[in-house]
Order: sequence, then C-alpha cells, then structure tokens
Amino acid sequence: MIRKGDETLNKQAVWFPDTLEKTYKLKRQYYYNSCLIAGGTLLQTEWEKGIQCPENIISIENIKELKEIELVTKYGQSFIQIGALTTLDCCRNNPIFLENVPILVEAVRNIASPAIRNRATIGGNVANGYGDVIPALLVLDASLLLYDGDKIKVKKLTECIKEKNFLLNSILVSITIPVQKKNTRENYFYQKIGLRENFCQSIVSICGYFKTGKKKVIEKVHLAVSGSSFLPQRLNRTEELIKELLLPPCQFNEIAQSIKKEFNPPSDHFSSSNYKQDITINIIVSEIAKLSSK
Ligand SMILES: Cc1cc2nc3c(=O)[nH]c(=O)nc-3n(C[C@H](O)[C@H](O)[C@H](O)COP(=O)(O)OP(=O)(O)OC[C@H]3O[C@@H](n4cnc5c(N)ncnc54)[C@H](O)[C@@H]3O)c2cc1C
Repeated sequence: MIRKGDETLNKQAVWFPDTLEKTYKLKRQYYYNSCLIAGGTLLQTEWEKGIQCPENIISIENIKELKEIELVTKYGQSFIQIGALTTLDCCRNNPIFLENVPILVEAVRNIASPAIRNRATIGGNVANGYGDVIPALLVLDASLLLYDGDKIKVKKLTECIKEKNFLLNSILVSITIPVQKKNTRENYFYQKIGLRENFCQSIVSICGYFKTGKKKVIEKVHLAVSGSSFLPQRLNRTEELIKELLLPPCQFNEIAQSIKKEFNPPSDHFSSSNYKQDITINIIVSEIAKLSSK
C-alpha cells in the first residue's frame, strides 16, 4: 500500500490501497476522519464550497476489480456488470452500453461536460445518492455489489436508496443490470429538467419503462425520479395504477393525482415543490400518450 504525504510536514494523507480488503481496513481505521475518492469530481466541488476535507483520503483508483466491465449469464439471464470505477465517458461511448443499456447512455449524456465525464465514475455518481444515473438504474432494476469488509453481497438499488447512508459501512464494487433482448413493445424514456439546458444540476430527472402487450395493454411499468434536492425514488403506487391500462387511457387525471400523492419533493431556492410535481406529471403523462400512437 502506498501512502503519499508526510505527517511531520502535512497532516493530510492520500492512501492508495490496491485491494478491497486494504481499503476497508483503512476506512475502519480512520472512519469519520477519512473518505473514499474515485474520480474526485464531486468531492472537489464540495471542498471548494468549504466542506472540510478529511485528513485521510483513500483513493480507490488502484483496485483492479473495480474497473471491470463484463457480460455474464446466470440461470439463463444475461447481466451487464459495471465496475464502480468505470468512467461516465466510457458508459457513454463503449458499444457494450449502447447495445445493452441505451437508456443508461442517455442518462449519462445529460451529465456535466466531457472533461468532467472523463474523470467522473459511475460508482461515485451512485454513491453520492443524488446522481443522475440513479433513476435510469432504478428503472433498469439494477443491483449493487457491496463489499462489507468480509464478503461481497448483492442488494437491489431500490432497497439501497431507502437508507440515506447506505454506503457508510460498505464499498461499492460494481453495478449489475439484467439485459433484455430488444423488443419493439418496450419503450424507455429519460428526461432531465435543469435550470438551463446543459452542465447543470437536476431539478428533476425522470426515467420510465413501459412494456405493452398485443392488445395495447400496458403490461409492465417502471418509473423513477431523482433530483439534486431530494432522494431518488421509484413511483410504485403510480406504477400499479398504470399497469393493465388499455391504450389510449382515459385516466390521466388519476395518474396525475397519484404522482402528486406519492412524490413530494421539497421546495428549494429555485423551484417549488409544486413545480417539480407538475413537470413530473407532464412528462409521464405525455410519454403514456405517445405510447398510444406507436
Ligand atoms: C461542473 C460539474 C458538473 C456536474 N454535473 C453533474 C450532473 O449533471 N449530474 C450528476 O449526477 N452529477 C454531476 N456532477 C457531480 C459528479 O461529477 C458526478 O456525480 C460523478 O459521477 C461523481 O463521480 P466521482 O468518481 O467523481 O465521485 P467522487 O467525487 O470521487 O466521490 C463522490 C462520493 O462517492 C463516494 N464514492 C465514490 N466511489 C465510491 C465507491 N466505489 N464506494 C463507496 N463510495 C464511493 C465518495 O466517497 C464520495 O462521497 C457534476 C460535477 C461538476 C464538478
């Protein structure tokens, strides 16, 4: 393990462990006086804003198993497994993503500038709890592989996001997403609403998936929202309401009411809670309306 920084000259140290075990040991040893760092793009902005930088920065960039991307098959189902250190630029440009999870590519396309995406990692985006890839991963039914100091366990992202500090005692190793064969009856959408068109924080990012049956019935629905001022969530009750509806549906009012009931983001300096609800309703309802004409 390499340690850069000299305690006699400067109290700050950057550690470069090369295994998960060594990383976890450091994390336990320094606990509140440390943080893991991947691409550093988010942490750097936090430190610039005045949030105190801990004395021990644990870089995970030398851990090989966090860089792997592969297609695996388990029990007849294919999965794409994405190492936590995979950069957003790689998610955007590597054909394996375009072929298997194009909606994730669309989410990444909406994040920051090319220079940031070149350093920023998918793991850092998920780990910070507010990243724009999260709604796409929720809709894709992703699971996280988490190292807890003893073993690697698999946990659904929908479960992880229920706890604010879900990574307090774990290291995110990789993200695994079930891959489906392309089907013309399946439709995805992703929309990010920010204060301006590019390079800005999200007011609301909305992602959805619909599968329609032969008789124009909506058979499957996944809907997820995230934003820089609230924790991401799946809209489970609205999904239940939409499931089994016949296209074109006449229940738009009920759908709008259901979203209003289960999605209650806080107001912030720039936009009110009502505004966030209204754009979410408009986008979801218009995507359902589009299904009818397909
Ligand atoms: C100008 C600018 C614009 C941006 N625009 C956007 C945007 O539009 N959308 C968006 O979502 N984000 C945006 N960001 C934020 C950031 O770039 C991304 O969220 C990025 O994906 C974070 O990844 P990172 O590797 O740089 O994370 P880091 O900064 O290294 O880490 C972020 C957090 O995740 C933790 N962490 C990282 N990896 C792991 C791991 N494997 N296990 C456990 N914890 C881990 C760190 O401890 C830290 O708390 C922007 C940042 C900047 C500077």
